[in-house]
Amino acid sequence: MDKVDAIIAGAGVVGLAIARALASRGLEVLILERESAFGTITSSRNSEVIHAGFYYAPGSLKERLCIAGRQRLYTYCKTHGIAHRRCGKLVAAFAPDEEPALAALFEKGTALGVPMRWLNARQAAAHEPAMQCHAAIHSPETGIFDSHGFMLSLLGEAEDHGAVLATSTPVEQVRQAGAQWVVSAGGTEVACDRFVNACGLGAQDCAARIEPLDPALIPRLRYAKGSYFAYQGKVPFQGLVYPLPVPGSLGTHLALDLAGQGRFGPDIEWVDTIDYDVDPARYPRFLEAARRIWPEIDPDRLVPAYAGVRPKIHDPDEPKADFLLQDETMHGLPELMNLFGIESPGLTSSLAIAEEVCTRLGVEIPA
Ligand SMILES: Cc1cc2nc3c(=O)[nH]c(=O)nc-3n(C[C@H](O)[C@H](O)[C@H](O)COP(=O)(O)OP(=O)(O)OC[C@H]3O[C@@H](n4cnc5c(N)ncnc54)[C@H](O)[C@@H]3O)c2cc1C
Repeated sequence: MDKVDAIIAGAGVVGLAIARALASRGLEVLILERESAFGTITSSRNSEVIHAGFYYAPGSLKERLCIAGRQRLYTYCKTHGIAHRRCGKLVAAFAPDEEPALAALFEKGTALGVPMRWLNARQAAAHEPAMQCHAAIHSPETGIFDSHGFMLSLLGEAEDHGAVLATSTPVEQVRQAGAQWVVSAGGTEVACDRFVNACGLGAQDCAARIEPLDPALIPRLRYAKGSYFAYQGKVPFQGLVYPLPVPGSLGTHLALDLAGQGRFGPDIEWVDTIDYDVDPARYPRFLEAARRIWPEIDPDRLVPAYAGVRPKIHDPDEPKADFLLQDETMHGLPELMNLFGIESPGLTSSLAIAEEVCTRLGVEIPA
């Protein structure tokens, strides 16, 4: 049986970042991916926003890894020639009764040390003349980037350090055999010293195939779909514009791509099965959300675009859960990590998640 130092299940942005981090520390890494190409699931169905990190609970992994990940990501984009734009964003109070919640968000972010500026209605209108609001927070550290180029670069670097990606190779079973893990995938078995489950929406299913992981430790998976409607034509905005967050989501916002095209989304819809179709019947609520941000929008140019699904590990009526990076201290099994609930800001946090995984597996940077 072949043997490697580490196997990563899942070649989304998180699995690729972990593969790069482990391979660049000198480990022989095998990445197993169920689909026929890397990064085709949640990592290519999102807003491509580099979040500043002011939304998350103080002391949470989301807060710490988003802020650290954002800094690493900007540096990575700069040094590796990945297209990006620190376009900034506004979070706006569109009604007077939203101002207290906006102020609370501003205080939280400021306390975390995230750069932010409070804008009154006049200052916000000067910043984004197409918008009218009562007050807004300006976050200059928020940006957008080419997430596919980023994943391609992560894979290239991992491969330069000897990592191998096997596509169309779903992990079928993982069992402990002495000090090693034996992974069955694609009709063959490979042994490894360390196994990392970075399967995103498939993480619970993958964990259920790990013997002897206690099934009671696998968190329940909930799907929260987010759809987008694109605007066909130019949008008169410099940066991103968000409303206040709603339970389970940052709110249907105006996102921009690097070419300046605008889209509105993602909304939130708790669903039982995964389906990436955008229901045209959602148009009225998208138009309403878009009009709050841009009253002069041409309604005929708003069209269904794409959708992604958030891998939630909490119910709709529960508080938002943190990322769950399950290591030996939680499940008692050495050299095994399961990553659950890697929803937003997972893209922003990916490089910091990879460092965290290396630390928890005890794989240090070579001297
Ligand atoms: C609508 C939406 C908007 C978002 N916007 C942002 C944003 O603007 N900024 C941000 O920071 N984050 C955002 N996110 C979050 C971000 O997209 C995710 O956190 C991130 O992409 C997760 O990456 P991943 O590698 O964990 O998962 P994935 O990209 O889903 O990768 C997991 C991989 O595992 C593979 N797999 C599954 N099962 C198996 C198996 N048994 N064997 C082998 N492979 C398997 C899958 O095929 C997949 O390729 C958003 C998410 C959504 C849904």
